Amino acid sequence: MARFPIADFNELRTPFYFYDLSLLDRTLAEIKRTARDANFKVHYAIKANANPGILRRIQAAGLGVDAVSGGEILAATEAGFDGSKIVYAGVGKSDDEIRLALDKGIGCFNVESLPELEAIAAIATELGVKAPVAFRVNPNIDAHTHEYITTGLSENKFGIDLELLPGVLDAASKLDSIRIKGLHFHIGSQITENEPFVMLCDTINRLVDEYAAKGIRFDTINVGGGLGIDYADPDRHPIPDFETYFKTFRNHLRLRPDQEVHFELGRSVVAQCGSLITRVLYVKEGLSKRFAIVDAGMTELIRPALYNAHHKIENISSPAGEMHHYDVVGPICESSDCFGKDELLPSVRRGDFLALRSAGAYGEIMASQYNCRPLPMSYFFET
Ligand SMILES: *Cc1c(COP(=O)(O)O)cnc(C)c1O
Repeated sequence: MARFPIADFNELRTPFYFYDLSLLDRTLAEIKRTARDANFKVHYAIKANANPGILRRIQAAGLGVDAVSGGEILAATEAGFDGSKIVYAGVGKSDDEIRLALDKGIGCFNVESLPELEAIAAIATELGVKAPVAFRVNPNIDAHTHEYITTGLSENKFGIDLELLPGVLDAASKLDSIRIKGLHFHIGSQITENEPFVMLCDTINRLVDEYAAKGIRFDTINVGGGLGIDYADPDRHPIPDFETYFKTFRNHLRLRPDQEVHFELGRSVVAQCGSLITRVLYVKEGLSKRFAIVDAGMTELIRPALYNAHHKIENISSPAGEMHHYDVVGPICESSDCFGKDELLPSVRRGDFLALRSAGAYGEIMASQYNCRPLPMSYFFET
């Protein structure tokens, strides 16, 4: 079990996010060590967590940013990221967002459709600049069989279908305000096996060879993100297996010496360093169940309600008590506001602190004010 400074928690308004910055730093150091190749560039997918305290560490570690909105571009530049180290993806970029990205000197637009390309070209012409673009390709890799959160299937809204790519590339080559940089892929999230990444490499190799035969070269290959983490046992795997992940691309991608590989990691960078700390309001005895009603809900951590996700729950106030089963539920007026059914926990009392682990990614950033609740505070911890 991770150690928490419980004595300090009594002073704080619950629920709140609690970040272990030492673990974040160790994670970033491991990414640097394992992605050591000169042509590997890691961009942090800022949608996972845009807390300024977290962003500053990631910026200091030298990573770039993968943004999916104008707001994220602003959050990144405010945290000190240079525009040239930001790549900008998303199926629905508005004119204002495109203008902002060009103003900030964006490193690359990841373009997802022909009309988007035309809008970027028109705005770049208006501003008198050249827009660097990569094309997000839908590789039609079915990761769904493994129950991943898939985005790489052709029926998904993301990316350009492989069959339509030649037409889009042809159109781009005729636009003076567009500079073609490369190809972009992103097959899904919380991928815990190596095989889908190997399949992605094979697809990319085939595609790059096919276009090389036609005389078209890509300077950057962006393989997206998706590396999964251990939600079941965060203390066993506090840092994801970056070594294997980067080795897969090193061994399987056939690259020219000057070709760059871009990675867009979100969850694997920040998930394990964050916990949501909540207080038990009531222990309610039902006819057949015992409920631990806590003061955090789907408003602070929506992943369980949204994707049926499960975060490890720990009773950090009394870790040594007799074990009982509890349904751990929040106060929000929705039946899906439940963090766990039949959780085996050391005896829970009113006032105990529970930690919902691995909540650093897609946690605080997705918080809402539903039921007129205040947004959660965040606190940082270093050992
Ligand atoms: C969400 C997203 C990522 C990050 O995914 P993780 O699973 O958090 O690593 C990377 N690239 C794109 C385009 C995304 O939309």
